[in-house]
Amino acid sequence: MNIIYSVNDIQSSILGWFSTHGRHWIPWKLNKDYLLPKPGESISPYGIWIAEIMLQQTQLKVVMPYWKKWMMTFPNLKVLADGDENDVLLEWQGLGYYSRAKRIFKSSKILINMIGKDKVLDPLMWPVELDVWMALPGIGRTTAGSIISSAFDLPAPILDGNVKRILSRLYASNRTPSSDERRLWKLSSKLLPINNPRNFNQALMDLGSMVCTIKNPSCCSCPIQNYCLAYIKYEPNNFPKKDMKKIIPTKEIGIGIVFNKQGQLLIDQRPEDSNMGGMWEFPGGKKESSESIEETIEREINEELGIDIKVGEKLLSFTHAYSHMKLHLVVHICEWISGTPKPLASQKVLWVAPSQLCDFPFPAANTKIIHKLEKYLAIEK
Ligand code: SF4
Repeated sequence: MNIIYSVNDIQSSILGWFSTHGRHWIPWKLNKDYLLPKPGESISPYGIWIAEIMLQQTQLKVVMPYWKKWMMTFPNLKVLADGDENDVLLEWQGLGYYSRAKRIFKSSKILINMIGKDKVLDPLMWPVELDVWMALPGIGRTTAGSIISSAFDLPAPILDGNVKRILSRLYASNRTPSSDERRLWKLSSKLLPINNPRNFNQALMDLGSMVCTIKNPSCCSCPIQNYCLAYIKYEPNNFPKKDMKKIIPTKEIGIGIVFNKQGQLLIDQRPEDSNMGGMWEFPGGKKESSESIEETIEREINEELGIDIKVGEKLLSFTHAYSHMKLHLVVHICEWISGTPKPLASQKVLWVAPSQLCDFPFPAANTKIIHKLEKYLAIEK
């Protein structure tokens, strides 16, 4: 991988393209007067930090309405740090990967101690050091680099999926990005100009999402076409090299919507230290190969809550995909028979009226169940 042209040429081509085609409307990249910041001007890192965490697993167009809603509820660090974790999770509901919301909340307490409650609106009182940001929960080098360059216009390189793809194509790397991280970081640092790092990093992200896309990149409108080895070799789609595909397992899960005689239903709260800890869900669990789904629901609810139920009609079934596995969820309406529910495998269990479900944060898969349940209850009335 040899650089056969001047880094300055690539920098000025990318910055030139950005000035005309960049996404200059992204709200967290604007200053307090809703204008693009001038070179060297510091802007509030708060909205940038929240957006960067939301963007870690999610696309910009999905993030945008969540970010706007978040900023209405938690307009600054003080309001967030003084808030309640349940409200934070409710605000995050639907975005997935809920540990991100919990880490933001944890980080808010650390940052407020560092900055001071009265000074959170002054960007210059926020930390500017990469290692300070990287010490916060859930913040890696790319997220920290993006926050620092966007907020303070400081030269911190980034290496998100877009940048990895552009660099792997630019230098026609024969290694997969995951096995080439060290070299890609060096290249990202090498390309980053001392002047205008904010715009340059944003330009790379915009170029990756608008031109150098995963499939069928628009090389004819790319500002670095003349320098791109993948393009010169006529094979941009062959880069980056791909990792071996992982086989994603599917698990079958039985879930019970358990009603008591008063028309209330049971929900339980996941343990704090588990995946999606603190979120609420309907009880249930994994089907064993030797049992029917009805038997699974009966057994799981007895094991998890210590109660006996009667499994009734099926409400719905659907498949929900995570990055590492797929869940096939089968949901039945159930009737409570005996026993007082105890949180044997959760941190809390509650009987609630169906109308109260909106006060609790549920993972995305459970939100689908709630929508179907609302329709079911409307027909039942
Ligand atoms: S020329 Fe094509 S492959 Fe190369 S960086 Fe530009 S869009 Fe990507």
